Amino acid sequence: MKALVAVKRVVDFNVKVRVKSDGSDVDIDNVKMSMNPFDEIAVEEAVRLKEAGKVSEIVAVSIGGKKCEDTLRTALAMGADRAVHIETESAVEPLAVAKLIKAVAEKEQPQLLLLGKQAIDDDANQTAQMLAALLNAPQGTFAGKVVLENGEVLVTREIDGGLETVALKLPAVISTDLRLNEPRFVKLPNLMAAKKKPLEKTTPAEWGVDVAGRLKTLSYAEPKARQAGIRVNSVEELVAKLQAAKVI
Ligand code: AMP
Repeated sequence: MKALVAVKRVVDFNVKVRVKSDGSDVDIDNVKMSMNPFDEIAVEEAVRLKEAGKVSEIVAVSIGGKKCEDTLRTALAMGADRAVHIETESAVEPLAVAKLIKAVAEKEQPQLLLLGKQAIDDDANQTAQMLAALLNAPQGTFAGKVVLENGEVLVTREIDGGLETVALKLPAVISTDLRLNEPRFVKLPNLMAAKKKPLEKTTPAEWGVDVAGRLKTLSYAEPKARQAGIRVNSVEELVAKLQAAKVI
C-alpha cells in the first residue's frame, strides 16, 4: 500500500515572527525555516506504518520555492522513499495545494493521504478537507491514532468533547494532530543517505493546476502587546478583583 505525505516548509515554530515595516508581509529574510510540525508527525506515522509492514512505499510531496527541497530531504531522511517537488515561488493557497495534491494522487494512486491538520504559517486548517472533497474520499481529521485493518483505516479523532473513532474506506485522507506520535530525530547519516533518494522536480503547470491566488491580503500587523498581569495573594482577593472588573 502506498502512502502520500504532504510536507510544507514554514517558519520554524521557535521563531518569533516579525512583520515587514510596510505591513506588506511577514519578514522571512534570514529566518530559520523547517518542516511544518504537523507534517513531521504525518511523515513519522507513514514511516511507522511502513515499519509495521502495512505500507510499502512513502511518497512525500511539497509545493513551494526551491528550498522546499530541504524539507523533502528531511522527509526522505525520516524514511520516505521518494519525493515530488512542485516548484513555484508564488504563495499558494490551500485550494491550489489541494488541487495539486489531488493531481499527484491521481498519478500515484496512494491508499493513504497524510497531511498536517494545519500549517503553522497560514493556520488555515483547510487543505486536507478540500483534498478529501476534491477526491471524493473519506476524511479523518485531527487524528490522534491511526489503525489500518481489514482494508479500512480507523482514525481516532480529537473532538471538543473527547475522542471519536471513525472507520474510513480506502483511499482516505487523514490530517494529523499533535498526540498522534513523537517524530524521530533525523540523524546526519540519514540526511546524507537521503541525498541519493529520488526527488522529482515539477511545476504546477505540469500538473495542469492554476495556482493564481483568489484571496487578497490587505495588510499584516503585529498583535497588540498584552498588558502585564497581576499576582493575587488569596482567593478572596481574586474574587474581589474579578468583581471589580465586572467579570463575575
Ligand atoms: P493548511 O490547510 O494550510 O493549514 O495546511 C494543512 C496541511 O496541508 C499542512 O500541514 C500540509 O500537510 C499540507 N500543505 C499545505 N500547504 C502545503 C504546501 N505548500 N506543500 C505541501 N503541503 C502543504
